[in-house]
This record gives sequence, C-alpha cells and structure tokens, in this order.
Amino acid sequence: MLEIKHTLCPSCSVGCGINVVLKEGNVVGTFPYKRHPVNSGKNCLNGRNSIECYLNKFEDINVDDVVADVLKELKSADASSVTVVCSGNNDVEEIKAIKEFAESNNFNLAFYADNLKNFDDVATYDDVADASKIFVIGDLLFENPLIGRRIVHAKQNGAKIYALGKTEKSVTFNIADETFNTSVVDFLDANDSNIDESSVIVFNYVDSAEDLDKIESIGCKSFPVFSKSNSKGALDIVEVKSLDEMMELLENTKVLLVFNDDIADEIDFDFTKISKIISFAPCENNTTKISDIVVPIKTWLEKDGSFVNAMGDTQTFTTVIDSDVLSEIEVIEKLNS
Ligand code: SF4
Repeated sequence: MLEIKHTLCPSCSVGCGINVVLKEGNVVGTFPYKRHPVNSGKNCLNGRNSIECYLNKFEDINVDDVVADVLKELKSADASSVTVVCSGNNDVEEIKAIKEFAESNNFNLAFYADNLKNFDDVATYDDVADASKIFVIGDLLFENPLIGRRIVHAKQNGAKIYALGKTEKSVTFNIADETFNTSVVDFLDANDSNIDESSVIVFNYVDSAEDLDKIESIGCKSFPVFSKSNSKGALDIVEVKSLDEMMELLENTKVLLVFNDDIADEIDFDFTKISKIISFAPCENNTTKISDIVVPIKTWLEKDGSFVNAMGDTQTFTTVIDSDVLSEIEVIEKLNS
C-alpha cells in the first residue's frame, strides 16, 4: 500500500514542503508538495534527494555503548578544552537543548553559518518577486532554485538582474542583465547608483564580515539564503562565530562534539590536532569518517520539530516514520543523567 506524508525539506533554508512516499511502511521516494505556499509544487534535486540520509542511516551501533564511551571521554576532559558544535541542521528544540548542555557543563559552544549572520529585517519571497532591481550574490538559480524561481518571475515582470559570481559562467548569469566577477564590496560599490529602495540584495555567500557590513549599510532590503534548513533559527538562539573565531576555538579544542553537522567538510582545519572527535549524526559524512566515536541519532523523518526558514517563518514538521533510534534531545538527556 502506498502512503503519502507531507513534511518540510531539510536541505536548505528556503523552507519548501515535500511529500514523502511510503510503500508498505518503507520510505521509497519523494515528490513535490503541490499546495505548499513556499514552493507551490516544485522541489529542486537536493530536496528530492533529501531522503538519502534516511535510506543510508547508521545501523547496528549500540547506542548505550557509544554513549558510555562519550561520557568516559567527557569525564576525563578539562571542560575548557571541550567544544560543542551545533548547526542549522538541528531543529529549534535541538539547538536549545545543545546550548543548555554546553552551558551547563561549561563547554565551548560553536556555531558557524558560512560567515553569514542574522539580519533583523529580511525581505520576503514576495519582495524578491516584486523587486524592480535584484542584486544576486551567488548562483541562486542553480543552488537555491526555489528562490531562483522568484528572481526569474521578477525578471519576467521587468526587473533588472545584476549578478555576482565566483566563476565566469553560472545559471544566474544566463538571465542577468549585468554580470560581475569581483568581490562583494566591489560589486556593491560598482552598482551604488543603481541600488534604490525597491531593490533587493539576495545572497547565499559572503567572503568576510566586511561584506556583511557593506550589505547592511545599503539602504535596501536583503535576503540571506542559508545552506541549512534551520540556520536562521540557530542564529536566533546561539551566537554565531566567524571563520577566524572558529579556527581559534578549534586550535584550543581537545574534545570536539559535533551535533549533526559536517564541520570537516566546511572548515579547512587540521582536525588531526584534536584528540577526540565525537559525532552525533544520522548518517555518514566527512566528519563522521574522521570521528573516534559516532552516536546515531534520528533523521528528520523520524521526529517532530521546527525549522525557521530564511524569511524568518517558523515551520513545524511531524514524524513521517517511527523508529527506535534516539533523537538528539534523548541522547543529550542520557549524557546529562
Ligand atoms: S530549494 Fe531548498 S528547501 Fe526547497 S526543495 Fe530545494 S533544497 Fe529543499
């Protein structure tokens, strides 16, 4: 028997709905969620592939054994040399639990969001679609196509598109009126006279804090698109670190606890300098591959939770499929007991 269950896509901060297909109780595929207000029946390839982690989740790890190993490591470590990493892959409730866990044990808490930070007043998806000029930083049409779709709609309605990219070719460049291969600051300086109140800056990367300051100093709306589903929610709860701050913290870390993140893939650091790396993850990634201990946790399909999307809207999701695997919050409760 086929069953269709609605949920949220966990693969970026756009916040699209997605349908998961179950056949005789097993997850077998996805298809777009037609009536969802964010994506109106479209999901990108990343979204369609978001069940891969569930299909390849860790099996056959005895959670009591690995939690005991983690407790042993933590008991023998100096709290000031223990760093806990959280990320936008954690839902709102998990971020709160991780923060409390780190603070109550006097561990360092680290949250890195690709050099991005919180913006109080972000544009809406409608602002993007209705803008007269859009300044696009990053290949949004390729990397975040459901926002890219709004940029295309704006273009069809007469908007001018100014695009900045790191390479000479990009999908966004194909629809842009003007293209640039400069720094973010130079891009915005070059377009200073073009930017007005009806413009929107949409971006999925910056290279430095100065880039963020520059974007903030421009008097138009901006729309940061994060690579992880709940980065905006995490930014509301946890103080974000710059890349330099992360590097300094990692240099002073002896025990690294990584909650559902792939920090080894994102930060160019020599992780062999860290004595023990402990990953809490639902499936394999580059960080679990270099970890001394891996504690399996539920995928997003196996739990209830909420993400805050790029626009700042809190979206809840419910369990698609039951499982005996512990959630991050249950694992933290075990570590605290
Ligand atoms: S744009 Fe983001 S949220 Fe939407 S389907 Fe693609 S990965 Fe998922």
